[in-house]
Amino acid sequence: MSQHIQPTRFTKVVETNSKKGRATFATTTIPGGTLIFSEEPILTMDATSETPHIDLLPSFAALSEELQELILDLTAIDPTSFRHLVWKEFEIRPRGSWWDINQKHGEHIKQVLAAFNTNAVGQHLGIHTAMLNHSCLPNAYAAFDEATGEMAVHATKEIKEGEEVCLSHLEGPDLFAPMNERRGLLVVQRGFTCLCDACMEAEQCESTQQESPREKLRAELRNLIDKYRRNEATLMKKFGKGGHGGLDPDFVTFLGEVAAGVVELVERLGLATIDNLDWYEYVIRWSLAMKNGERATEYGKKMVKVVYMSVGGESQMHGDIEQHASGAKSVAWRKIAKLRSKPSGDGRHSIMKTSELGPAEEDEVEQDGEKAESREQEENPNDGDYEDEDLEKL
Ligand SMILES: [Zn+2]
Repeated sequence: MSQHIQPTRFTKVVETNSKKGRATFATTTIPGGTLIFSEEPILTMDATSETPHIDLLPSFAALSEELQELILDLTAIDPTSFRHLVWKEFEIRPRGSWWDINQKHGEHIKQVLAAFNTNAVGQHLGIHTAMLNHSCLPNAYAAFDEATGEMAVHATKEIKEGEEVCLSHLEGPDLFAPMNERRGLLVVQRGFTCLCDACMEAEQCESTQQESPREKLRAELRNLIDKYRRNEATLMKKFGKGGHGGLDPDFVTFLGEVAAGVVELVERLGLATIDNLDWYEYVIRWSLAMKNGERATEYGKKMVKVVYMSVGGESQMHGDIEQHASGAKSVAWRKIAKLRSKPSGDGRHSIMKTSELGPAEEDEVEQDGEKAESREQEENPNDGDYEDEDLEKL
């Protein structure tokens, strides 16, 4: 196998006989939170470009012949699968330059695009990362770390020696969808039919008219998420109309409980990653609204663990969030929530830079009285977030 896919400290790539083709296996037991490997991406898409797919081609052409071959060899799917993605770009690109590219790399265009779309994480394609198959029950998380310029893959749970290392290519709540929907999404977005353990188990149960326990949990999870969204919408509506008086403490407690139920199910399913941090934040938010600092801190600590398991203890995100979680006080959590809601260049798979948070502001974070709140109001007099000023009045 190419020197570019040599074994890493914890893994090796094996050519399997199954339909999955190449797969990555743990050569030793890997504790959760371990950095399995990190690598510099070999292709990066410029999401701000009008022609991001076409722009990949000159970058591809600039790679060594060996790397080019590796990319062309990355996917077994029909190379025309993603043709539609470039159709629009053909029209935008000045004809002359397109022909120029086509002349040079025409025979590879479709393959490069297919390889990229099937294997990239966010906007980045890394060779070792591309050797990780998708699973709807992943045990690893890949994120591009802007601080190092590398793709970092961490174990989100303990991975036993000999176990396959997999990540998920489904974004956010798509991973909670029923098996048929997940497969449908993966075919459209990534060009393959998922044959992961979770899908195979669900398929088997379906064929014998049984209910897969895991699919049942996913259905419960979807119901709870739905319940939360519906009730949160009701709350927001009340706020819009009735001002501050509309907040019923029982209702706030109820929302917190539903969000906590979501967290519990996500954790039971083994799907807790930084993609689901919102749900921990909701529990923290409503707990703080009810002045329940203990519960907020409890979920803050859970959140720290999830960050650790997704992007590792060495990441800046983990260090920052840990500092803030030690005394989950509204100021810090809101700052984190705001930061997380800022769109980053690379979408979900970027490790956010929390450096903007500045020092941990320990005096505010740890004290538990009025001072922090009043100071925060001074800091954000025009803050549009309803919870900033309104929920504090409960
Ligand atoms: Zn699957």
